[in-house]
Amino acid sequence: MINIIISGAPGSGKGTQSDLIVENFRLKHLSTGDMLRAEIAAGTELGHQVEKLVSAGAYVPDNLIIDIISNAVSQIDDSYNGLILDGFPRTVEQAQALEEILEQTGKKISLFLDIHVDEEELIDRLLKRGQIQGRKDDNLETIKERLKVYNAKTQPISDFYKKKNNYYRIEGSGEIEEIYGKIEDIINLVSKE
Ligand code: ADP
Repeated sequence: MINIIISGAPGSGKGTQSDLIVENFRLKHLSTGDMLRAEIAAGTELGHQVEKLVSAGAYVPDNLIIDIISNAVSQIDDSYNGLILDGFPRTVEQAQALEEILEQTGKKISLFLDIHVDEEELIDRLLKRGQIQGRKDDNLETIKERLKVYNAKTQPISDFYKKKNNYYRIEGSGEIEEIYGKIEDIINLVSKE
């Protein structure tokens, strides 16, 4: 079993790298951003509840997101070799809640990948994605807010995982395949342990 947390600022490539990882290692991909956008698109009650926050670049309340992840983790079937959490945990409270969720399901985190990209490049990538995909939160004002929230709330969780000795920082600028190669090497290394 290999259970990965992929973390990094908005635009760091978490989703792109997660897609490559799940393809090659048969892991279940849980992206909280994708889940929330799906709820919003489907017009569910939860979708209505979170729509304003997500489009403003604010985080949704911890209890909501913890429930979503807790349900999703309990539903993973045995055909997977593990899971990859993309966009969760994003606060120290979420990281602590995850410990309990994993304990209850007999799982543990194998590695925490922290993808690092300079802020200037992040803004550039997100503006381009906004033009191509039309994501509502990919406009300059919201991007700046998301980066601010990330630095204040998510950056500190790195320390939580550094203390647990399963923290790996990845330089996330360059070719997608080259970055994936570095991640693949780390996963192979950790799975042998
Ligand atoms: P990005 O990393 O590019 O901001 P995501 O798709 O991961 O994109 O997340 C999009 C938005 O969904 C976030 O800005 C936030 O509003 C909400 N969101 C996703 N995951 C969480 C989380 N774990 N806690 C709170 N809010 C979240």
